[in-house]
Amino acid sequence: MFDQATFIPTEELKLFRQRVHQMAREKIAPQARLIDEEEFFNREVESLLWDQGLLTLTFPEEYGGVRRDKTLSLCIAVEEIAKYCASSALLLIIQAVGSFPIIHGGSAEIRQKYLPQMSKGRKLVAYLVTEPTAGSDVSGIRTTAKRVGNHYLLNGTKCFATSGGVAGIYSALAKTSEEKQKSSFFLVERQFEGLSIGRTERKLGQRGSNTTEVFLENVKVPAENLLGREGDGFLTAMKDFDMSRPAIGAQALGIAEGALEVLLQSIKEKQTLRKPIANYSIIQATLADSAILIEAARGLVYRAAILNDQGESNTKLASMAKCFASDAAMKVTYEIIDALQIVDGYRSLKKMDAVRMYRDSKLTQIFEGTNQIQRLVIARQMLKELV
Ligand SMILES: Cc1cc2nc3c(=O)[nH]c(=O)nc-3n(C[C@H](O)[C@H](O)[C@H](O)COP(=O)(O)OP(=O)(O)OC[C@H]3O[C@@H](n4cnc5c(N)ncnc54)[C@H](O)[C@@H]3O)c2cc1C
Repeated sequence: MFDQATFIPTEELKLFRQRVHQMAREKIAPQARLIDEEEFFNREVESLLWDQGLLTLTFPEEYGGVRRDKTLSLCIAVEEIAKYCASSALLLIIQAVGSFPIIHGGSAEIRQKYLPQMSKGRKLVAYLVTEPTAGSDVSGIRTTAKRVGNHYLLNGTKCFATSGGVAGIYSALAKTSEEKQKSSFFLVERQFEGLSIGRTERKLGQRGSNTTEVFLENVKVPAENLLGREGDGFLTAMKDFDMSRPAIGAQALGIAEGALEVLLQSIKEKQTLRKPIANYSIIQATLADSAILIEAARGLVYRAAILNDQGESNTKLASMAKCFASDAAMKVTYEIIDALQIVDGYRSLKKMDAVRMYRDSKLTQIFEGTNQIQRLVIARQMLKELV
């Protein structure tokens, strides 16, 4: 129905999209409602994603990654899965986000030691940046890493860690100097003494993703587990955003498409009962407005992803993609709930899927930088371009 194919540059990627779409429709969609209602992390879905190579897409090729178009492949897979289950799609994003500091900052020895553990050993990774007093302002983190001989000692509290309770490996950001922006990423193993898992968050949406606090108490991390140069953590986090923000945009895009599909199916069923619902102008307006927002969002998301894969600067476009697509998903899902009320009446079960998608879309406005922060990033980039 959508003009997705025109945005996909290669036959290989078109086939990839079809494969992920079929898997998501057949194997993930039937579980989506239950995952949400019972708020549980589904190991069966995780296993399926490993089997399909979708949790290592952005890894180097020898560790299971795709040869090229890594960001676009991630976005395509996330979009297809999010059409049915945003929680499952989030697992792909956080695996890519959390492994970024390891892939791009880890020494050759660290990559050789840990990437096979993650790809062949099927270890999930969590990304520990946010703290109770530092979310939008990453430079405000309080977790410290003090060098003691051949180790660093990490101390601090992290929160809202996606996959925090199910990961085997953590990319943790900690301050290595008193200077405000001098922080560094460290690779921390789950079994390192002093790392413990706190509360599991109960969330408005994407309830099938696991979100926890993680405590670091005198965690002894070997010095070689420093990812990148000391003090470069903030920069690494910013580069990670250039990949992750288009991916969140893709998740929002998928959610909006999924909700529109629910509405279209309902209309189709009503048509067969000879009810002229599709002739209502209010329904047609919802269909058209949703389709316009979806196509516009796709343009931004795919362009931001392609630029990143080409090694071009995409910071402004990545923020635009994330911001526009997530705002669009909120609007589309909200209006679709209203339209479903007209088509199906209040008690429709199908509408519950649309309500889930509405709740799920709210989170896309928050993580990887809230949309207020995306607007600041866009404006700052524009002002930078003036000088
Ligand atoms: C489901 C979920 C999963 C997450 N997963 C992870 C994860 O895996 N790892 C991780 O590290 N973090 C994760 N996060 C945290 C997420 O990145 C933060 O919630 C987000 O960055 C916002 O931080 P905050 O909640 O502390 O809000 P705050 O920074 O306290 O901001 C509060 C509000 O003020 C606004 N605001 C702040 N500064 C400004 C400003 N200068 N101008 C205008 N408005 C402003 C914000 O937009 C926000 O609406 C997750 C969050 C959620 C909800």
